[in-house]
Amino acid sequence: MSSMGVLKGKPVDLNIKRLHLPIVIKTNCPTCGHENEEDLQVSNLDYPCTNEECIMEQYCYSCDCRYNIDYLLTLDFEYKVSEDE
Ligand SMILES: [Zn+2]
Repeated sequence: MSSMGVLKGKPVDLNIKRLHLPIVIKTNCPTCGHENEEDLQVSNLDYPCTNEECIMEQYCYSCDCRYNIDYLLTLDFEYKVSEDE
């Protein structure tokens, strides 16, 4: 695979509403300290952007508040010409 990396570092609007990923995000609530888990295969990222810092909102299952999590989703795209065999 050639390493063209044509999208590397460039912000891309994926134009999709929900993105599920095999990632579990564990954060501590800044208000009460409770550890919250969010499984992104069950829940999702809303309107994800890529290659730039984004914010998702986390609900605290202990004190009923909401807080922000900064995340960075990076996307590279590589391509090459393949030969038929
Ligand atoms: Zn809390």
